[in-house]
Amino acid sequence: MNVLVINCGSSSLKYQLINSDTEAVLAKGLCERIGIEGSAITHQPAGGDKVMEEKPMPDHSAAVKFVIEKLTDKEVGVISSLSEIDAVGHRVVHGGEKFAESVIIDEEVIKAIEECNDLAPLHNPANIIGIRSCQNNMPGVPNVAVFDTAFHQTMPAKAYMYGLPLEYYNKYKVRRYGFHGTSHDFVSKRAAEIIGKNRDDLKIIVCHLGNGASISAVDHGKSIDTSMGLTPLEGVIMGTRSGDIDPAIIDFIAKKENMSLEEVNSMLNKKSGILGLSGVSSDFRDVTAAEDAGNEAAKIALETYSYRVAKYIGAYTAAMNGVDIIAFTAGVGENTQRVRAQVGEYLAYLGTYIDADKNMARGEEVIISTPDSKVKVMIVPTNEELAIARQTVALVK
Ligand code: ADP
Repeated sequence: MNVLVINCGSSSLKYQLINSDTEAVLAKGLCERIGIEGSAITHQPAGGDKVMEEKPMPDHSAAVKFVIEKLTDKEVGVISSLSEIDAVGHRVVHGGEKFAESVIIDEEVIKAIEECNDLAPLHNPANIIGIRSCQNNMPGVPNVAVFDTAFHQTMPAKAYMYGLPLEYYNKYKVRRYGFHGTSHDFVSKRAAEIIGKNRDDLKIIVCHLGNGASISAVDHGKSIDTSMGLTPLEGVIMGTRSGDIDPAIIDFIAKKENMSLEEVNSMLNKKSGILGLSGVSSDFRDVTAAEDAGNEAAKIALETYSYRVAKYIGAYTAAMNGVDIIAFTAGVGENTQRVRAQVGEYLAYLGTYIDADKNMARGEEVIISTPDSKVKVMIVPTNEELAIARQTVALVK
């Protein structure tokens, strides 16, 4: 079966065509700057070179058309007609409290996703356009929605309620939802498999550290807490997001800098985090290089980042009354040896130690803790597209 996986961001669309029998990626690509001048599609067939083409893409529907064009193109395509696509899996950012698992999309589901638009105003509308466009271009092909929030719907009220007047939860569903659910699910399952155990018997902390970053506590197979909240802004420090701050800072800075609430919100999402702290970049390759070159702000940015991750690990160890596995994943978690080493320095109270040589690994499944370490620490590369394809197949088969 061939599954097209579609991930619509606010101004981008990532895609992969996956053969679900072999789990091979047949082609993948990215449409960028959708709705902005200079939009372009980058397409790569398996084993072939990347091709990039500038195309006007006023919305995600135009992007879906170009994706289809590339997949069926005589030269760079990998299928001869659309009939070779058996199902489409869509990453949908916010499922609110309505979706605790993936679903086959029908009109009712689209309506329910629309009802969550308020909670993810940049993403959910884009997801719906992507879904509608696939329905129109590939009539009869089933579409599945895989929600970023669904895996965390098992959180108990004590983990998802904020200390706010209850009326805001009752009226607007203001609560913790959490994101990266597909990754936390995939990585925790895989981490258990790596040590030959069942996830249902373990306490696992997943550190998904990418551009966006979140940590989750997966207790006997269920997410019981996670660091992102109503939106992806809460939690650990990220590439450009602040993570947790004193909420009073918002009013303070708005007044001092004569900024609107929207401007402060944008600053917290786009100019803060590792970028804001280091003044160098949001990319850890640049920031570690800057630290090596003696940049003090870069050094402090990395230490602050790792310290915050370590504090969340401590909090989730308490939440689960123990931990068996700590798994690092996503761009930073898989590749940045320095962050893992710094976090490891805070784990001795758990009888947990990282082996410096093993920690040199990058982007591969490997246990990086010492043999006598009480908690297994590991790198587990995430694969959200494959997880979406698997869930799609499970529903449409
Ligand atoms: P997202 O999916 O949230 O956009 P990723 O999981 O792809 O993010 O992570 C991207 C980040 O991972 C980059 O900004 C960079 O900081 C980090 N990263 C990626 N590759 C490397 C690498 N080889 N070495 C160090 N950091 C890396």
